[in-house]
Order: sequence, then structure tokens, then C-alpha cells
Amino acid sequence: MSRAIYPGSFDPVTYGHLDIIKRSAEMFDEVIVGVLNNSAKNPLFSAQERQEMLREAVREFDNVKVISFEGLLVDYMAKNDISVIIRGLRAITDFDYELQIAQSNRKVSGDSIDTVFLTTSIEYAYLSSSIVKEYARYGTDVTDFVPGFVEEKLRKHFS
Ligand code: ADP
Repeated sequence: MSRAIYPGSFDPVTYGHLDIIKRSAEMFDEVIVGVLNNSAKNPLFSAQERQEMLREAVREFDNVKVISFEGLLVDYMAKNDISVIIRGLRAITDFDYELQIAQSNRKVSGDSIDTVFLTTSIEYAYLSSSIVKEYARYGTDVTDFVPGFVEEKLRKHFS
């Protein structure tokens, strides 16, 4: 069975993330969406809240599971027998950082991990969780960027 993990902060999940999840779910038998629980990143939503929003958002996919992990991704992967990482690439500005992480993950895993990059669908190329949070903070409508229940959660948070 082919399994892959799609790790990220997902603070909060956007249509850009969901596009990557949908496309990966067609490529792999099982996709695990891994919410990084890292307090140093100072997220807007707790790992629990980010997981709940993701679970609601991926409800339609039978082969997608949402988990949260702390510490190193490679350690979680080794313990759970996963050898493929999925990442999304929006623009050349993502590339340097992603290449470095992919190569170091491969190195520390003794060459047992590969990273698969999916290029963003053009309609989501500009979209990031940070942009969504910035708009929501100032009351701008974000319904084109995130599912309705995420928009509601943002609205409550900033009201
Ligand atoms: P991180 O903090 O690890 O960058 P994010 O939640 O910001 O976590 O992103 C998780 C993954 O989703 C990354 O691979 C990122 O490049 C990708 N991603 C984010 N937004 C988009 C988008 N609009 N289109 C495609 N991929 C995206």
C-alpha cells in the first residue's frame, strides 16, 4: 500500500492545501495530513483546532487521515512506516527552502525518504494561510480562500 504524509502548519487550512490533498489522494492509497504542533511557531489556532478544521474539510476523502505530531517529521515517519512526503510549491520563492528541507530529510533518514512536490493550481498560486489571516483580521471577506466553517472560526476569533 502506498502511503504519504502531507505535513504543514495549516493555520488555518485553505483551498490551496485542499487542492494538494485532493490531488495526492488520487495518487496514493493513503494520505496522512500531519499538523505540526510546534509552539515556537506561535500559531493562531491550536493544533487541536487546526486538526478539527482539517478533518471537517477532508471528510469526503475516504483515504485521507488527519493527525498531529510534535518533534521531527522523520521520526514520526519512521515510527509509522511512511516514506513519502508531499509538499506544495507555489512559486520559485518556496523552492530554496523546500529543496533544503527535502535534501536534509533524505540525508537524516539514511536515504529512505523521498519528497514529492505538487505544483500549485494556478488559481491558488497567491494563496497562503498568512494572507488569509491578515485579511480576516481586518474583516475582509475570505470565502474565496477557505471553506465556510473556517471563515466562521476566523470571524469569531477576530471579533
Ligand atoms: P508550513 O508552515 O510547513 O509551510 P503551510 O501550512 O504553510 O505549512 O503549508 C503546508 C504545505 O502546503 C507546504 O508545502 C506549502 O508549500 C503548501 N501550500 C500552502 N499553500 C499552498 C497553495 N496555495 N497551493 C499549493 N500549496 C500550498
